[in-house]
Amino acid sequence: MTNAYPHNILSIEKSVKGRRGVKVCTPSCKAENILPSKYLRKTEINLPELSEFDTVRHFTNLSRLNFCLDTHFYPLGSCTMKYNPKSYDILSALDNFTSLHPALPEANAQGTLQIIYELDNMLAKITGLSAFTLQPSAGAHGEFCGALIARAYHANRKDKVRTQIIVPDTAHGTNPATAAMAGCEVVNIKSAQNGKVDLNELQKALSEKTALVMLTIPNTVGLFEEDILQIADMVHRAGALLYMDGANLNALIGLVKPADMGVDIMHINLHKTLATPHGGGGPGAGAVGVRQGLEDFLPNPRVVYKDGKYSFAKKSKLSIGKMKSFYGNISILIRAYCYLKQLDGDTLKDIAKNAIINANYVRVKLKNYFPAFFDTKCMHECVLTIDKTKMPTVKTLDIAKNLLDKGFHAPTIYFPLIVPEALMIEPTETENKQVLDKFIEALKDIYNKALHTPDVLHEAPLNCPVKRIDEVSAAREPNLRWTK
Ligand SMILES: *Cc1c(COP(=O)(O)O)cnc(C)c1O
Repeated sequence: MTNAYPHNILSIEKSVKGRRGVKVCTPSCKAENILPSKYLRKTEINLPELSEFDTVRHFTNLSRLNFCLDTHFYPLGSCTMKYNPKSYDILSALDNFTSLHPALPEANAQGTLQIIYELDNMLAKITGLSAFTLQPSAGAHGEFCGALIARAYHANRKDKVRTQIIVPDTAHGTNPATAAMAGCEVVNIKSAQNGKVDLNELQKALSEKTALVMLTIPNTVGLFEEDILQIADMVHRAGALLYMDGANLNALIGLVKPADMGVDIMHINLHKTLATPHGGGGPGAGAVGVRQGLEDFLPNPRVVYKDGKYSFAKKSKLSIGKMKSFYGNISILIRAYCYLKQLDGDTLKDIAKNAIINANYVRVKLKNYFPAFFDTKCMHECVLTIDKTKMPTVKTLDIAKNLLDKGFHAPTIYFPLIVPEALMIEPTETENKQVLDKFIEALKDIYNKALHTPDVLHEAPLNCPVKRIDEVSAAREPNLRWTK
């Protein structure tokens, strides 16, 4: 990426005193005449002074540095960066939605309420669960909501000793964080040699103190828990509830219903599975579903349909309360709604099938280069590693940086923690074979360099606007403040 205009300096560093982009007329009154003196600025305001050209070029050039789904293959594991129809962006941005005041009377927000109601029902149908809340604004927020529901359920049964949440080491990092946030004690269990839940470890951890068992399905090494029915049975027999982190439901959608696996509560990242790329930290929507019997614990208020009208239901006394103001992240809900409206049952199944085929294609093709840590069929993502005996000086970080030079976004690296030198690749269902082949070729080329000229790998990236950064200092001394 060559760029004649300096893109690596801030607009304030381009500032020239007195330069103006827009001429604003002199105000007819002076600030000191209308504001008390204690509110007046004592020093000059330090803003960039730029012409219109300076400003437009600054931001246009910055925007061209974006490495995004619209420009590149983005196989970030655990994050599902996939095709998101632009038409849904247009629909969700329609004035009829965006200009609604959040406090409008129900009668004037019928369309929005209908979308919430129907999306709730569509998700229930897909998962086999009874009802959903669309309030939580992220996956982690959904988990928190689910943990609160589990606590409310046990409290309602006057079962006060259930304060533990069991989380296997193959769970997403947000799971133990959620359990702690919900005021519970986190009980970690080690997974078996094959990367799945160790039933003996689970049995040992289960007790009359267990409130919830949180399973990420597929787990963070991309594997399906084949013993799920037995696991659910063990959890229920211990009097606990089973939570499924279904952030990546695109691996299972249309193939299996979580309710049939014995799941009591789950969340789905609508912003991963059903359109809206999960990037830049949001916005998101972590819809939470519950099985029959737990509906009353869902956040208030729920949307109901009666006599041809949509409205907010009477508040449930058992509810955990509100998770978010007003309607939730409605623009994300609309995208998910469009996605599900457009796809019928069979196409939904194709999402999961293609996600699984693509991940396994990458895994098998790279078998002799970067082997999968758990050498078995995976779901929507595969976790590869480096054979250190062949390339002792090369790290996963080097592989990732070299991929950037070759025009690919790097996969997730060093996660999950149980895999040394992990490269977590999620191609997603929406990439074609040609793109995957190019990616595989790039990794094979990097592999050959790693064997024969490993030193060149340490220099990368060379083609990116920012070269190799000092990650240790960046992590230990995060100084983000601009000073002259
Ligand atoms: C992304 C993800 C989460 C967290 O979702 P956020 O929207 O980032 O809070 C939780 N679990 C799994 C398995 C995920 O992939």
